[in-house]
Amino acid sequence: MKHLNLLIKPASSLCNMRCRYCFYSGISAVRETASYGIMSGEITDKIINNVFKDINDKDEITFAFQGGEPALAGLSWYRHFVENVASRKRDITVHYAFQTNGLLIDESWCDFFRAHNFLIGLSIDASPRFHDRNRISTAGEGTWQACLRSKHLLDKYQVEYNILCVLTNDLAKEPDKAWRFIQNERIRYIQFIPCLDPPEEQANAGREVSNHRGVANQRGAALGPGDDSGNILRPVQFAKFYSRLLYWWTREMEKGNYISIKFFDDVVHYFCRGIPTACGINGQCHNQYVVEADGSVYPCDFYAFDRYKTGNLTESTLREIFDAEQTQNFLNEKLELPKICEKCDFNTACRGGCKRMRNVMYIGANEVVCGYRSFLEKCLGPLENTVQRVFQEGTQ
Ligand code: SF4
Ligand code: SF4
Repeated sequence: MKHLNLLIKPASSLCNMRCRYCFYSGISAVRETASYGIMSGEITDKIINNVFKDINDKDEITFAFQGGEPALAGLSWYRHFVENVASRKRDITVHYAFQTNGLLIDESWCDFFRAHNFLIGLSIDASPRFHDRNRISTAGEGTWQACLRSKHLLDKYQVEYNILCVLTNDLAKEPDKAWRFIQNERIRYIQFIPCLDPPEEQANAGREVSNHRGVANQRGAALGPGDDSGNILRPVQFAKFYSRLLYWWTREMEKGNYISIKFFDDVVHYFCRGIPTACGINGQCHNQYVVEADGSVYPCDFYAFDRYKTGNLTESTLREIFDAEQTQNFLNEKLELPKICEKCDFNTACRGGCKRMRNVMYIGANEVVCGYRSFLEKCLGPLENTVQRVFQEGTQ
């Protein structure tokens, strides 16, 4: 029995927001084709056909849709997709996930999400001040109110969702504000997404690329070259933010109230149970099967550049793409570990972490500090103790 994950972009890099830190607009802008538009019905059907060639009974598969803004593909596109998958009549478990900026979400989308058990990732940045600074409409206006309205709609329709909050360096200085947002909005699941510095390819392009498409993804957001807006997260601030958040989270846990903060969940799963639930937490890349609207496949959302393309799912199966030389090169790339890692107690578990997150949550520019290590040194023990105590009490 296997569990496959695909990350599909039905509307490519198209978006109805102009978030200042959008990392996917930066990536797509330096590709030969910035946007492949909306995925056609023919391409969709070919992709599903090829995916099912590798699926056996009892397998599980997650189709996660994101962009750009995936809602731009239209509700009929998703109806077609789930009908096609359902028509296969196989003994498998299918999960759906959908990451959205929320602008287009209305009652009919909520009905659909509920009917097909979609798990939604909704991007909201903690307060109007932080949100409206970066998450702006095509007219240049803040979108806080519209996004919050979508959240309340998901609540009303009892659609399951995570809040995706981009962790800028400035927001990381105000963990209490982030916590108040969680409390005031009664959020049960939240993921803080590190705001990244621009990728090498973008910086090498030697020009300002417009950061004007897409929406924060589950793994990161990034800024254009030369950004000095206080957005790019830095390791010291990363550690301070989560240390303080842990204080509030622990108090809530002790009242028997579990709130899922993705980073804490990942650390607990990995260090207490040996299960890596975040890509890169064990220092290894995992093949993410990022599928663009023309069927092109990339190994990681951070690396959806032309030179990392691993195949096309309209022509090849997942197995063939996994076995392709480009995929294996990406997965097996050995990066030199920074010196600071050599004397780190977490070295064998972490192995330098995710290479794309290195500058923002791990090793600072001067290589004398690692934010993740600082957090683990101070907080891993208390975090493990809290989880063990609360779950032991829960089973008594
Ligand atoms: S760079 Fe590697 S570890 Fe990081 S998210 Fe991509 S595949 Fe995962
Ligand atoms: S110093 Fe940081 S990145 Fe290096 S092994 Fe330790 S925790 Fe991981």
